[in-house]
Amino acid sequence: MIVIDEKAIFQIIQERKPVSVALNGPDGMLPRVQETATNIMNRFGIPAYVLADTTWGTCDLNSNGAKVLGAEILFNIGHTINMSSFEKNVFMIDAFDDVSFDGVAAKCAEILRGKIISLVTDSQHLNQVDSVKSILENNGITVKIGKGKGQLNDGQVFGCEFYPAMEVRDQVDANVFMGQSNFHASGLALSTNKPTYVLDPYFNEVRDVTEFALMLQRKATLSIYKAAEATTFGIIIGLKEGQISKTFALKFKRELEKEGKSVQLFALTDITNERLRNLRGIDAFIQVACPRISTDNQFDKPVLSTPQANALLKILRHENIDDYLQIPHWL
Ligand code: SF4
Repeated sequence: MIVIDEKAIFQIIQERKPVSVALNGPDGMLPRVQETATNIMNRFGIPAYVLADTTWGTCDLNSNGAKVLGAEILFNIGHTINMSSFEKNVFMIDAFDDVSFDGVAAKCAEILRGKIISLVTDSQHLNQVDSVKSILENNGITVKIGKGKGQLNDGQVFGCEFYPAMEVRDQVDANVFMGQSNFHASGLALSTNKPTYVLDPYFNEVRDVTEFALMLQRKATLSIYKAAEATTFGIIIGLKEGQISKTFALKFKRELEKEGKSVQLFALTDITNERLRNLRGIDAFIQVACPRISTDNQFDKPVLSTPQANALLKILRHENIDDYLQIPHWL
């Protein structure tokens, strides 16, 4: 069960006495966020709006939604990072999953006994890293936990950012990801180029996601080669507040024009196949928002992420693109 740190929320409201607040969190956590909003309204008698749009991470806080509503404080729930606030009125609130890893960690030990592993997880399970580490070590596995960097805590990864795992990748035989997310684990497998296992406490299973990750990479590479045949490109700037990157967009425009390509510029909040179908005369797209939009979704035309676009430029210059995803941050 997800446990939201309501105590921290109540304390902030008591201190700052806002007239209204907004809350948001990952889709799977919205029912719990609704309960917290109700608790705030009952306790303080102020409106608490649940922003029900997506919030994929700290790159997608939707603080504009809170501003439009006139909510003085936004509580972004469930994206634990090593910072507690953004600007003056966006507070990051912990929400940890209290599911036990004991059973699945013991299973993992049977598979990986004698190996050296890098232990990583996402925001919701950071509070259990130490206990899982102990179980694995008591069962003959050597555990490394890479250091955090930027917004990442020690042992934490995002879907596009893998610094802790990259720090220890040359010292380990495999990655072990605590949680249910094949999404995080597959990125981890590709950036580190190591066998990667998911420790799923809900299904009580240890999943090897290495082959799934390689399938994603093959699809991403095929898109790059298809895009290399394009003459007209659409470059898309994402309008989510933490994903906006005009600099990269304009850099790709310049570089592609040098290679004789035509370029149009677009901006979108949600980059979906349906939205792109409205745009005519474009052979291939490059989107400089979230890299996983390109690697994890299906599009009618090639839609490259930033690392794929860098690889495309290399292909156009007849350079090697080996290892283009083996970087700590896919931007
Ligand atoms: S993978 Fe996408 S949604 Fe997740 S942190 Fe990176 S940019 Fe944001």
